Amino acid sequence: MTIEGKIIKALSGFYGVQYEGGYVQCKARGLFRKTGTSPLVGDRVMFSVEDEMIYEIQSRKNALVRPPVANVDMALLVFSAREPDFQTTLLDRFLVVLEAYDIEPLICISKMDLAEKNLGTIQEEADVYKKMGYDVLWTSSETNTGLEQLRPWLRQKVSVIAGQSGVGKSSLLNALSPGLDLKTEEISASLGRGKHTTRHVELLNIEDGWIADTPGFSSLDFDAVDSAHELHKYFRDFQAYAPNCKFRGCTHLKEPKCAVKQAVESAISHHLGMSITNSFFKK
Ligand code: GDP
Ligand code: ZN
Repeated sequence: MTIEGKIIKALSGFYGVQYEGGYVQCKARGLFRKTGTSPLVGDRVMFSVEDEMIYEIQSRKNALVRPPVANVDMALLVFSAREPDFQTTLLDRFLVVLEAYDIEPLICISKMDLAEKNLGTIQEEADVYKKMGYDVLWTSSETNTGLEQLRPWLRQKVSVIAGQSGVGKSSLLNALSPGLDLKTEEISASLGRGKHTTRHVELLNIEDGWIADTPGFSSLDFDAVDSAHELHKYFRDFQAYAPNCKFRGCTHLKEPKCAVKQAVESAISHHLGMSITNSFFKK
């Protein structure tokens, strides 16, 4: 008899499956090698408790390459106010990729305790994203600021955390769940070895939700975008104007009577996408 469960851990051919009755370590049938789909953390599966075997993977909403996690609902995009300085180029890229994967972004500006002189500038930039319909949270793992605002976002979801190295991702997870004891940069540097050397992936249970323990998700993961001509669909700030463009399939680059470009020129819309679209076309 098979029952349904969720893979929350993957380690060298074994899959930790959580189900109503508990947790069991399973293997996957050879079948997966034939079908070309191997189980991923985050997969809902049909498995058997008796022979500790996964028999079937339920259809996925999405699947990321880095970290290898399926059915991701939300991405926590961490950008520090300082050290390193807040930057929007990478953020813009994340937002486009997430839209394509159908993953809800939550922008988290970390290390707020370090923001003094540049606080006003960051707030202005954050407002631009809020106007586009994105949610922005402010946190500090140093002073435990913003954690209570963050918690409700994690409930009932599978989340991944992304952001460049050193922005405070591990510190944030530790602050949310002190029992985790994840290595932060200082500690791993003092041990003289790099972080994230392990190849296993695990979903950590925080706030009745799940969050992948390995950060990942880079701006290079454009796999979900089929072609350059699809790209424009994933800019939220285009969506209000794009239906008014003269040409169907307008890429909003050089076409005449482009409503998106007109909106940018008249400064109604912050043009999130132009630099990204351009760089994508140059590839
Ligand atoms: P990660 O690479 O994104 O996981 O970043 P870490 O969590 O390893 O943090 C990188 C460095 O920033 C460490 O030295 C942390 O102590 C420091 N750090 C993390 N969060 C904060 C914060 O909220 N405030 C301050 N002042 N420092 C922080
Ligand atoms: Zn257009």
